[in-house]
Amino acid sequence: MSEQDRGVDAAGPRGGRATHREPAPGESTRHRLTVVSGPSGVGKSSVVGELRRLCPDIFFSVSVTTRPARAGEVDGEHYHFVDRPTFEDLVRRGELLEHAEFAGNRYGTPRAPVERMLDAGRPAVLEIELNGARQVRAAMPEARLVMLLPPSWEELVGRLTGRGTERDEAVQARLTEAERELAAAGEFDTHVVNADVRAAARELLSLVTGRNTACDETEHSQ
Ligand code: 5GP
Repeated sequence: MSEQDRGVDAAGPRGGRATHREPAPGESTRHRLTVVSGPSGVGKSSVVGELRRLCPDIFFSVSVTTRPARAGEVDGEHYHFVDRPTFEDLVRRGELLEHAEFAGNRYGTPRAPVERMLDAGRPAVLEIELNGARQVRAAMPEARLVMLLPPSWEELVGRLTGRGTERDEAVQARLTEAERELAAAGEFDTHVVNADVRAAARELLSLVTGRNTACDETEHSQ
């Protein structure tokens, strides 16, 4: 493999791609994957949406799911909506980094785009449930697992029952799942409490990118 292929600047600091430097032995240019998990109703989508607004440079994986699209959801943007045989085919072909069943539907992360982004040194974020997070931990031990927590259990129950988009049994299934997910908080590297969406997103931003300011805000250090 050539120096070029490894993304190393063979020309040194004065020539070629001067922003690249030779990695130290054992150091990789590959970025670390961040997994954001947490119980349904905790506000994962809102916090991750705010993180996306703060830093469009981050790659946000688009999952595959057998769940029908909700009003306003766009295929290829919020999810890739597929039928079960198509999903099972993806599993069989090893094209999913992780996959899980949640409240009667299947969800999975397409492997190739995530690997491509990380290899290119770009931060990548997955927003997935607990079983998927565990599979990522096993497949990529270096991944950072972040659990988003509600300020309290009562607050979470209020958010889930007040959503008004689902039948009672579906809400009950999500509460049962939520209890199971919260019980696994100890398996995560970091916890972020979502009392305020913007504050939680900023906390995530600094975990994912090491920045405290939005990615398009100029840092005035000379
Ligand atoms: P929803 O149906 O509300 O969009 O998502 C239900 C749950 O599935 C959420 O906890 C969400 O984070 C999770 N989820 C979404 N995409 C994936 C995925 O690709 N893999 C796994 N394991 N969970 C996912």
